[in-house]
Amino acid sequence: MAKADIAVVGLAVMGENLILNMESKGFTVACYNRTVSKVDNFMSGRAKGKNIIGCRSMEELLSSLKSPRKIMLMVKAGKPVDAFIEQVLPHLNDGDIIIDGGNSHFPDTIRRTEYVESEGKLYIGTGVSGGEEGALLGPSIMPGGSPKAWEHVKPIFQKISAHTDKGEPCCEWVGENGAGHFVKMVHNGIEYGDMQMICETYQLMKYGLGMSNEEMKDVFTEWNEGELDSYLIEITRDILGYKDENGDYVLDLIMDTAGQKGTGKWTAIAALDVGQPLTLIGEAVFARCLSALKTERVEASKQLSGPSLQFEGDKRKMIDDLRKALYASKIVSYAQGYQLMRAAAAEYGWNLNYGGIALMWRGGCIIRSVFLGKIKEAFEKNPELSNLLLDPFFAEAVQNGQQAWRRVVTTAVQKGIAVPAISSALAFYDGYRSERLPANMLQAQRDYFGAHTYERIDKPRGEFFHTNWTGRG
Ligand code: NAP
Repeated sequence: MAKADIAVVGLAVMGENLILNMESKGFTVACYNRTVSKVDNFMSGRAKGKNIIGCRSMEELLSSLKSPRKIMLMVKAGKPVDAFIEQVLPHLNDGDIIIDGGNSHFPDTIRRTEYVESEGKLYIGTGVSGGEEGALLGPSIMPGGSPKAWEHVKPIFQKISAHTDKGEPCCEWVGENGAGHFVKMVHNGIEYGDMQMICETYQLMKYGLGMSNEEMKDVFTEWNEGELDSYLIEITRDILGYKDENGDYVLDLIMDTAGQKGTGKWTAIAALDVGQPLTLIGEAVFARCLSALKTERVEASKQLSGPSLQFEGDKRKMIDDLRKALYASKIVSYAQGYQLMRAAAAEYGWNLNYGGIALMWRGGCIIRSVFLGKIKEAFEKNPELSNLLLDPFFAEAVQNGQQAWRRVVTTAVQKGIAVPAISSALAFYDGYRSERLPANMLQAQRDYFGAHTYERIDKPRGEFFHTNWTGRG
């Protein structure tokens, strides 16, 4: 068999499917896995008869590749990636490329890029989103790392990635060192936010409006036809209608404690590190933490009371309000996510293409939606756009939904139904559009107890003052 165009190390869910995707697009792929029996199983199973070279050792893998060699890791993030780099680096030639396609934390990718480049080799850290199906049929791919590596990897990645309905690949160069993994991390954070907002509307429909699963399914079916058209609304519709062999709704049987793997937490921490108010994603992470306190919540539910949950108003109107509240909150969440990327780009020296990022998320990944097409347009019109809320299209969309959004939050508060993501989005909107916030009081307090000083509105910025508030020396 001819030499391979690329190698993939790691034959778990993602690795296997990505290999089959690459092969189906005309590439010859070499593969290897630490537990070698998985290579044998793959070769005699899904890879049988295909242009895939199964390698039983690292030496075999390295000698099966065209130059410059491109080796893509699809293994558990963390130590295995560092261990692999150490193992393979001495055997690579200058210009060979190591690609990490796992969910690595971006500071690790910054460090690894620097290390591999210092050894004369090239490194790519890339986000791959879309799960098992995406990996097989076309994921969203977000590569960053050594710019010189991109021209070698681009033809493969842009061919195997998802494509928009206009045929554009959902894969573009993101930026240097950890930029690709950073953007993938923000994608995952936004995914947390999108999911939480949908969960809050579900909770309001179920407990506030007393809707059945079938009624909710019909509403999500309708929502998926309009501005909320997205993968997550689509799967929510399907989940609501899914029954098991006994005729029971599986959703109603699922324990209400959410798991998390940490990318949402990383996003929130990254926002705190660069001082950005990423409130909605932060609330989405905390909502998962609160859900995990099941035993405590069950106990508290017996001791702590609240208002009656039942909504007595116009149900149809409230459903329409919910749609508008969800859309407005989603705009805020993406505005916050983009603000974070802008601040991180300044901090880490990346030149991010914001419209290109929206395009990468347009297909193949969990947050894919029609809405991202509008974000791409906004950044194409104005690449310097400081906040999505200031784009005329989104400003008008929020304006149109604003009263409905306020009614939803008010109703949720009155009925005692927690909507942390939707209400924090509204609080952010009201704070962001405020010319004057109460931080004057905060600065006065800081100056009072700690002599931290303050700036004055009647003096130039950068001049600091202190008041002896107590008159004591
Ligand atoms: P995974 O369960 O995260 O990892 C399993 C793979 O890692 C196996 O090939 C395993 O080899 C290898 N591995 C584990 N520890 C190792 C070590 N110390 N040294 C060498 N190899 C080691 O697999 P996955 O779900 O396919 O995900 C792969 C990567 O993609 C991960 O970083 C994941 O976070 C990311 N990702 C996953 C998804 C998803 O939907 N699953 C989506 C996007 C991104 P053995 O067979 O020898 O144990």
